[in-house]
Amino acid sequence: MADEYIPKPHLKIWLDGKFVPVSEAKVSVYDHGLLYGDGVFEGIRVYNGRIFECDAHMERLYRSAAAIRLNIPYTREQLVKAMEESIVINKVRDGYIRLCVTRGVGTLGIHPFRTVGASVFIITDAIAMYEAKMYEEGMHIVTAATLRNHPAALSPQIKSLNYLNNIMAKIEAVDANCLEAVMLNPEGYIAECTGDNLFLVKHGVLKTPATHCGILIGITRDLILRLARKRGIPTEETTLTRTDLYMADEAFITGTGAEVCPVVSCDKRSIGDGKPGPITKQLMADFRQYAREGG
Ligand code: PMP
Repeated sequence: MADEYIPKPHLKIWLDGKFVPVSEAKVSVYDHGLLYGDGVFEGIRVYNGRIFECDAHMERLYRSAAAIRLNIPYTREQLVKAMEESIVINKVRDGYIRLCVTRGVGTLGIHPFRTVGASVFIITDAIAMYEAKMYEEGMHIVTAATLRNHPAALSPQIKSLNYLNNIMAKIEAVDANCLEAVMLNPEGYIAECTGDNLFLVKHGVLKTPATHCGILIGITRDLILRLARKRGIPTEETTLTRTDLYMADEAFITGTGAEVCPVVSCDKRSIGDGKPGPITKQLMADFRQYAREGG
């Protein structure tokens, strides 16, 4: 992903029911999304002018909101329509949608039910993926010292506006000259990366941390599991250690922005022969075809 980005002035943002120019798309300093990270969001891709895995994203958004007792003041149909209009207005064929729901404007205290109600905005823009070289040669990652949030404290299943846990680990990745870091759960098992799910291949079996390891249930993760099963590749959602990753034959990350990107080393241990592996390449190709065909 590009590290710096300046919004294009012609962009139109859907904000609480209306399209406004990006320069006017502002939220209040009293919005609890800003004051406390109190809110939820989705990052969604547009391929060929179509919203990718739309139902799955809507399902996760409303489930995340319900988990934090946030009432989204629009129906799914209304939000899907707003996203579709946003794609057309902004002339986006292949791009990215950021759909955010904040707790809204309230008092300075954290009380979530003393706000005027949720605020919703939709940004539809181009996407900058990792550079092409990463997909050809693979990515080097490190393990972060920062543990992923304990699911009993703040479940990673909730895609909340509070990403500080991930950001702390991302700082460690950047300090190590890497773009991603593996985060372990409080038991020491692999959870996920800072903004992506993690997969490995061992003896032909595709493995990824199970939901109970404390992960965001990635929509790309689910799709990759489905595509692998369709190919007859055995899959396992299980507990994995850092050493399982060091000793894996192949590894890759998945995410809406990253799609499927090979991982060729972790903590300076080469994974497999240090090159993207055959199952990884197959699933990258399957993913691209699926996305091109519009899901
Ligand atoms: N884990 C985290 C922490 C994420 O933020 C994301 C999304 N960027 C993912 C996993 C991947 O999820 P998805 O495939 O739904 O984008």
